[in-house]
Parts: sequence; C-alpha cells; structure tokens
Amino acid sequence: MSAAVTLRRDAALQTRNTFGVAATAPVLAEVADASRLAEALQTPELRDGIALVLGGGSNLLFAGDPEGPVLALSGQRVQPLDAAPDCDGAIVRADAGVPWHAFVMRMLDAGYAGLENLALIPGTVGAAPIQNIGAYGVEVREFVHAVEAYEPASGRLHRFDNAACRFGYRDSLFKHAPDRYLITAVEFALPRTPALRLDYAGIAEELTAMGVDAPTPRAVAEAVIAIRRRKLPDPAQLGNAGSFFKNPILPRAQAEALLAEHPSLPVFRGADEHSRKLSAAWLIDACGWKGHRDGDAGVSAAHALVLVNHGQASGAQLLDLARRIAASVQARFGVAIEPEPRLIGARW
Ligand SMILES: Cc1cc2nc3c(=O)[nH]c(=O)nc-3n(C[C@H](O)[C@H](O)[C@H](O)COP(=O)(O)OP(=O)(O)OC[C@H]3O[C@@H](n4cnc5c(N)ncnc54)[C@H](O)[C@@H]3O)c2cc1C
Repeated sequence: MSAAVTLRRDAALQTRNTFGVAATAPVLAEVADASRLAEALQTPELRDGIALVLGGGSNLLFAGDPEGPVLALSGQRVQPLDAAPDCDGAIVRADAGVPWHAFVMRMLDAGYAGLENLALIPGTVGAAPIQNIGAYGVEVREFVHAVEAYEPASGRLHRFDNAACRFGYRDSLFKHAPDRYLITAVEFALPRTPALRLDYAGIAEELTAMGVDAPTPRAVAEAVIAIRRRKLPDPAQLGNAGSFFKNPILPRAQAEALLAEHPSLPVFRGADEHSRKLSAAWLIDACGWKGHRDGDAGVSAAHALVLVNHGQASGAQLLDLARRIAASVQARFGVAIEPEPRLIGARW
C-alpha cells in the first residue's frame, strides 16, 4: 500500500503562491487520500501539529516562512451524490484539492448551473468556503450544501451543513480558526435550471458584445472569464493575490457622512439596514496609489485593490506597502481597511 503522506523537507513555496514570493516550509506534506489524514498526521514530522494548510496559495502572503509543517490536500475526486433537496439538480461532492475553476467548468459542462459567475477564481475547492468566495454578485455559500472537515485536535471528521458554516461577506466559521479544521471535501447543491445573474459589473454588456442574446450558464461563464482577463492581472504573468483589501463595512451614519463629503464614493448596502459597505478600491485610488511602485512591490495600474509583485519583491516588502496604503486611507478618510489574504509570518 502506498504511504498516507508524501513529505519534502525545506520545500520552496515560491511556485505555490500566486504572489510568487520566496518562502520555505521546513516540511511540506501532501495527502491525496483524505480518509488517511489521521494516519498521515501521526507521522513523526507532523505529530506536533501543522502550521499551515496550503491550497493554491492564491489568498495568502508569505511575509515570512511558515513556522512549522505545511499540509496540502491533493485529492481530485468529483462525484455526483443524490438529487438536491430544494432544486431540480444534484448534490455534487468534490475533494479539497480540485482546482476551483476546473470544477466550475466541469459542472457547467455536466449541465449544472449556479457557479458561472464564479469562473476563473484561482485556488482550490477546499478553500472556497473559507472566505466564502464571491464575484459578480454571487457567493459560493448559495451553493454549499455541506463542508466535510477533519479536526486534528479531536481526531473527528465533522460535517458542517450550510448554516453551521456561518457564512458572511468573505467570511465563515473556518476563517476565524485557521488550520483548526482541515477541509477535506465540499458538497454543492447545484440546480439544472439556471437563474442567471446578469445585472452586475458589465456581464450583460459583455454578452451583447459576444453576440449572445439567449445566454446560457456557459455563456455567462465565458463573459465573466473575458471581463476578468481584461481587468485582473494573471498571476502567471504578474504575481498577485487578487483583491488585497476587503471592502470596509461601516455604520450607516458614518458612511452617509463620507458620501456627503465625497459624492462619487461607491457605497453599497451592508449585511443589514444599519451598515454600509464602501469601495476599498475607490478609497485607495483617491489616495493616489494606483500604479504606485516601490522596487518590485507595487499596486496594479489597472486595479487599486490589487497589490503586485513585479519580479523579486519579498512578502515583507509587499506587506510594508499594504500597511502604508491602509495608513493613508485611515488618515484621509478615517476608515480602517484590512487585508483579505491570510498573512503568514506576520500580523496585520
Ligand atoms: C487573480 C486572483 C483573483 C481572485 N479573485 C477572487 C474573487 O473574485 N473572489 C474571491 O472571493 N477571491 C478571489 N481571489 C482569492 C482566492 O482565489 C480565493 O480566496 C481562493 O478561494 C483561495 O484558494 P486557495 O486554494 O488558493 O487557498 P490558499 O491561498 O492556499 O489558502 C487560503 C486560506 O485557506 C486555507 N486553506 C486552504 N485550503 C484549505 C483546506 N483544504 N482546509 C483548511 N484550510 C484551507 C489556508 O490555510 C489559508 O488560510 C483571487 C485571487 C487571485 C490571485
């Protein structure tokens, strides 16, 4: 029988994070069969605990080296399970290691709808529920049926239904306890009948430009892919982790006071009537950061929310730039902005 885990010492992580910054893991452990995770975690190198669960490395910044072993779950199974309870589709279970975009396209090809607006988001299926990935008016929580996760501290395999995941804007139960739960698989409830969401950020216009007048979920995904390719730098060409800052959520009165002073500031409804979400991109742009560059650490010229590595920037240099951006937004607007990616080897 093959080993439950593959181990590598002093493993370089530069190609395993989309910022492309250098970092070294004392041990990198890869587990393909999640049913052998408990066994894998008993190997001497992992017995004292792991410092980081690593997916595609597209939502973290190595500001330093991880202080202990790094674990990657590389299972690749995708299986339809039952009919979905509340829709005409099915429950589909995917292993944590399945690349997210490939999963979206595979589901669309199989005739399932829902995930089309989330096409081309980098990363893995296992990481998708952690920050409740979202794009173009859709969040993954709308389709998560259950999350299966192993808890090393208790040795239990948990199954969280949608409510138990406590999803919020770029948030979930898992985000608050990094590495407590190792997500081994996610079950999605996917309808066959589409309910297309076209009213967000140019999707309808893109479909028109593509000559599509009766859009299918697949066509919407193609439109989203085209828009994303134009707007966001490709990490393969220019290191980045997508949006570096979350849109800040403020009490309604504070947001309205800012809007009165800055009428072009985009303000959206928050989680309830009493809160408002502001555009972090607008705030950063207004402070003059778009296209800024300090050596190889910079801000995308196309998108003020995206920090970029022009080549040899270190994680510490990118973090320093991020802190200066946040300080300038705080000084000018009195608004605190926070990073979306997880920081490894540093605190915000
Ligand atoms: C160009 C670009 C565009 C992006 N666009 C979007 C977007 O539109 N919307 C959006 O929401 N995000 C976006 N992101 C962010 C990112 O793609 C997502 O957050 C993605 O889900 C991260 O997946 P990952 O596998 O790379 O996770 P990683 O970066 O490897 O890890 C992120 C966090 O999840 C944890 N983790 C990963 N896998 C597991 C697991 N199996 N079990 C437990 N913990 C785990 C890690 O420990 C870490 O805390 C973008 C990133 C890039 C580079």
